[in-house]
Amino acid sequence: MEQPIAVTRQSFDDWMVPVYAPADFILVRGEGSQVWDQQGKSYIDFAGGIAVNALGHAHPVVTAALVEQAGKLWHLGNGYTNEPVLRLAKQLIDATFADKVFFCNSGAEANEAALKLARKRALDQGNSSKNQIVAFNNAFHGRTLFTVSAGGQPKYSKDFAPLPGGITHTPFNDLAAAAEVIGDHTCAVIVEPIQGEGGVLPADPAFLQGLRELCDRHDAVLIFDEVQTGMGRTGELYAYTQYGVVPDVLTTAKALGCGFPIGAMLTTDELAKTLGVGTHGTTYGGNPLATAVAGAVFSIINTPEVLEGVKQRHQWFLDGLNKINQQYPIFSEIRGGGLLIGCQLTQDYAGKAKQITQLANEEGVIALIAGPDVVRFTPSLIIPEQDVKEGLARFARAVARICS
Ligand SMILES: *Cc1c(COP(=O)(O)O)cnc(C)c1O
Repeated sequence: MEQPIAVTRQSFDDWMVPVYAPADFILVRGEGSQVWDQQGKSYIDFAGGIAVNALGHAHPVVTAALVEQAGKLWHLGNGYTNEPVLRLAKQLIDATFADKVFFCNSGAEANEAALKLARKRALDQGNSSKNQIVAFNNAFHGRTLFTVSAGGQPKYSKDFAPLPGGITHTPFNDLAAAAEVIGDHTCAVIVEPIQGEGGVLPADPAFLQGLRELCDRHDAVLIFDEVQTGMGRTGELYAYTQYGVVPDVLTTAKALGCGFPIGAMLTTDELAKTLGVGTHGTTYGGNPLATAVAGAVFSIINTPEVLEGVKQRHQWFLDGLNKINQQYPIFSEIRGGGLLIGCQLTQDYAGKAKQITQLANEEGVIALIAGPDVVRFTPSLIIPEQDVKEGLARFARAVARICS
């Protein structure tokens, strides 16, 4: 057999379009919540591939589902349906408010479908001027041109003008400001129950309830982007149930495939009618390989053991992080829900989140940032207690270094 091509971190700079600045080591293997690099150094994984690997790495049941399906049928195209996609649809429908599901390959695509649905629904009702979308400052909804425009961080969209129009942003958690712009010309409101990329900022219950009432009053579609908060991340299957506010459309991706690319848009019978035959689609969406994996993932995550376990693990993290913060006070707030945890840096350490995660890497733990001032943790939902303890001990050493 031919020798594989030799690759190092330098190869990234040589060969890759430079949209990312990855860490200066290359990971080659993972098991549960541990990963190893080319040199055999071990890391505790508190990032989970950015809230994706909700069952850790190489979970035996998920791997078995992948291998079994891989030997059977990978792909057909949407001229032919398949068994795994129908089973996954039923699992999602039975566990949520939804009656219908559209499958795609990413979070951005799920949001793209949701926004297109809302525009077309209003048009179908004969209301061609009901095309305005309300979104929130600091939000993140993906990187397609439509979703990056709906996102509330102009730094991600400004270089790609002209942008799709008809999108207004107001401050997150400011119901009065939202009420001022939501009207009969509004076709959709899109919101994350917890802003993830924006800094792990939970919505106030009254804010989401108020948006629900405004959408009802003005016949606008309420879209919850649960791409990051979904699939057990907050200790419920989806965060909307914690808030007691039911959206019209819910988008999910990230942990749904635990690393196999898949996204989905969930909605009601009434709204699903908008997207009739031929009005939207994607080649890979709902293919048997992705949906077989997601079906196995779903069966494991949607159990009381795993969901209760998330709440328990939340407490382990909180206890450990508070202890670190007592010794080295660098966090002004520790917030979030379940295993989506954000640590806001104090003024003294503002802008140093990236540097802290780099030191954490050196100490053998992988953490995330959520903007320059927030360190974020989104580990596996089933991370063992021993790994939480060891990872936090390593993280504490990184914090000690930044403080010295
Ligand atoms: C990650 C994320 C997205 C984008 O998902 P992709 O799979 O990267 O397209 C959208 N919305 C939220 C809330 C996210 O966290």
